[in-house]
Amino acid sequence: MARYTGPVCKLCRREGVKLYLKGIRCDTPKCAQERRNIPPGVQSQIKKRGGKMTDYAIHLREKQKVKRFYGVLERQFRRYFQMAERFRGNTGERLMQLLESRLDNVVHRLGFALSRRQARQMITHGHITVNGRRVTIPSYLLRPGDVVGVRPKPKSLERVQANLAEVSRPVPNFLTRVDGDAPQGHFGRLPSLEEVSLQQVQPQLIVEICSR
Ligand code: SF4
Repeated sequence: MARYTGPVCKLCRREGVKLYLKGIRCDTPKCAQERRNIPPGVQSQIKKRGGKMTDYAIHLREKQKVKRFYGVLERQFRRYFQMAERFRGNTGERLMQLLESRLDNVVHRLGFALSRRQARQMITHGHITVNGRRVTIPSYLLRPGDVVGVRPKPKSLERVQANLAEVSRPVPNFLTRVDGDAPQGHFGRLPSLEEVSLQQVQPQLIVEICSR
């Protein structure tokens, strides 16, 4: 599946929020969003965010923010939206639950990787297992009851242990982490809207723009 490979700090500056795309650097004063909180591009610097956004632009920015946060491109995002629409209940909430159930997101939230990008790389390189079997698809959707583990190889275990030692991020309630020589994570249930990683988001706006 295709992925974005361009500069990532620009994406945070464009959305006006920290999307935490660079791991540890995002929590340091080196964060570009904190140092230079203006959208990239000459025109934006001239306007300095003074221009009024159209209704369409407000909706579009909300969608782009979520796509960029989870590292999902348009076609895949549309597929998630179609899946969410088929679900009975709140489409916006279901959409966020689907994104949050991606394997790369869960590996990151368990603390096995410093960023979603790194999680994605670890998965494609075969360091991660689901229910004891190696899975190399970052977009793999986890179901309640699934167990995320680390491949029992010294290289894989060392990498995950080093990442766990580097960050002390709390694990959300819908996940459980079992530490030890071979750390594991349990995907207990789907997260509620309050538990998704990106809190500055209005799913209803995304539903509105995707339904047009
Ligand atoms: Fe975004 Fe992280 Fe870059 Fe800050 S350091 S602008 S949060 S990617």
